[in-house]
Amino acid sequence: MSRLVNLVAPRSWRDALAKSLVFLLLVNATDFLVKASVPQPRPDWPREVVTTTLVAVPFVALVMTILHRQRTLQRTLSMLATTDMLTGLPNRRAFMDRARRALEREGTGVLLLLDADHFKRINDQWGHGAGDAALVAIGTHLRTVLRPDGILGRLGGEEFAAFLPFASVRDAHHLGHRLCAPIPVVEVPGGLSVTLSAGAAGADGGATLDRLIALADRALYSAKAEGRARLHVEEEERDRAA
Ligand code: GH3
Ligand code: MG
Ligand code: MG
Repeated sequence: MSRLVNLVAPRSWRDALAKSLVFLLLVNATDFLVKASVPQPRPDWPREVVTTTLVAVPFVALVMTILHRQRTLQRTLSMLATTDMLTGLPNRRAFMDRARRALEREGTGVLLLLDADHFKRINDQWGHGAGDAALVAIGTHLRTVLRPDGILGRLGGEEFAAFLPFASVRDAHHLGHRLCAPIPVVEVPGGLSVTLSAGAAGADGGATLDRLIALADRALYSAKAEGRARLHVEEEERDRAA
């Protein structure tokens, strides 16, 4: 049903006009077939067309309006279901879907799990509003640092994730410095900044998203244990050897 609405609903005024004309043509064709099949004195066709069109126009306009509204609602619902409203990043569900599809398509890439450091302290010392502003700043920072083809998401709370298709573990090492540098929260007066700890894991063909997440999670744990504000990479080889 939603596909049908997407197909038929008008996208612009020009599209609405074109689709309305097609509808009116169909209505007139049906009217012609019905009247031609019933024996009756020869109808005045131009007059029939004008009458049928005049009757049909309000209905076609109504259908177009309803379909347009339906399509807008569908888009809003889909956006609400897949977007984190604070940062504007994809939410956990959307991130997992997109990352899984990209991993299946490309077979390679790097998964990053990122967690804000001592975030509870920020809330406690600066207030929840400052914490929210810090989360927005983190979202902007991630969008800036990670490549445009990277898939980003807020997993929940102060945890974020990224999947970089085609990237290697070496690329992740290079990103670490910029990724984990202090992020200024300019909306909060007084020089608040926040850092991220990151865990990375590389897909070396055949790795599932769940496996990458488990590896990156372990790497993140190491990054926290080693002092925070740093990136730790978990190598699959090392994992097998252990
Ligand atoms: P660590 O460096 O070990 O990660 O410590 P942490 O304080 O960041 O971790 P912890 O799990 O103890 O605290 C996370 C905090 O994040 C607690 C929670 O209140 C806060 N938080 C989660 N979601 C939000 C949010 O949407 N807005 C704000 N302001 N705070 C949030
Ligand atoms: Mg956390
Ligand atoms: Mg944290």
